Amino acid sequence: MIQINFEAKTYVCPFCGHAQAYANSENCVQNGLYRNVSPIPSEYQESSFEIHSFQCNNAACKRIAVSAINRTDHKQIDIVPQVVIKHFPDYIPGQILKDYEEANLILERSPKAAATLLRRCLQGMIHDFWGIREKNLNAEITSLKDKVPAAQWNAIDGLRKVGNIGAHMEKDVNLIIDIDINEAKKLLRLIDLLLEKWYIARHDEENLLTEISEIAEEKEAKRKD
Ligand SMILES: [Zn+2]
Repeated sequence: MIQINFEAKTYVCPFCGHAQAYANSENCVQNGLYRNVSPIPSEYQESSFEIHSFQCNNAACKRIAVSAINRTDHKQIDIVPQVVIKHFPDYIPGQILKDYEEANLILERSPKAAATLLRRCLQGMIHDFWGIREKNLNAEITSLKDKVPAAQWNAIDGLRKVGNIGAHMEKDVNLIIDIDINEAKKLLRLIDLLLEKWYIARHDEENLLTEISEIAEEKEAKRKD
């Protein structure tokens, strides 16, 4: 969902991820006319939408996002892009990012299938980041227990259990435990968090430490001169 705050007149560009203010007169277009002329008849007001367009102020992006707000229930339906996917750096393995993106794309239509993909994402991250490989995800998560904070581990184990429902459904077709969109979204946020706490934090820390060592070496060299 494109993040728009109509009161503050700000939005987050879904293409480049920059938060920014928008100017109402230039960037926001409203319509909702019926057959180009009259307003939608009152008995069909639930089908009336305000269409908002936003052009990104970031010169490197400049892309236009479009979202529709229902005039009756104020629900937001994104038109361009239809799905907002958080962008992660490419030092994260491609297969993990692919599963993550696919989970984003199908989440609204099939939260159960998204949960299965997110579980696969998690397994890929445990293999790659921690180098843990056991007979199944359950055993791998057990091995992870003393490596991550307790609250993080509990959430990870929760994701495994929820993802299991989708992955092992074929064993008992009558057993249907529904995962709703909000639950699947929470799982997605958990993967977001782990990508940040594991991959991005490690990358940033390594960069900072290298930079500090380089500064120290430079000073040392100058002192010797
Ligand atoms: Zn942008």
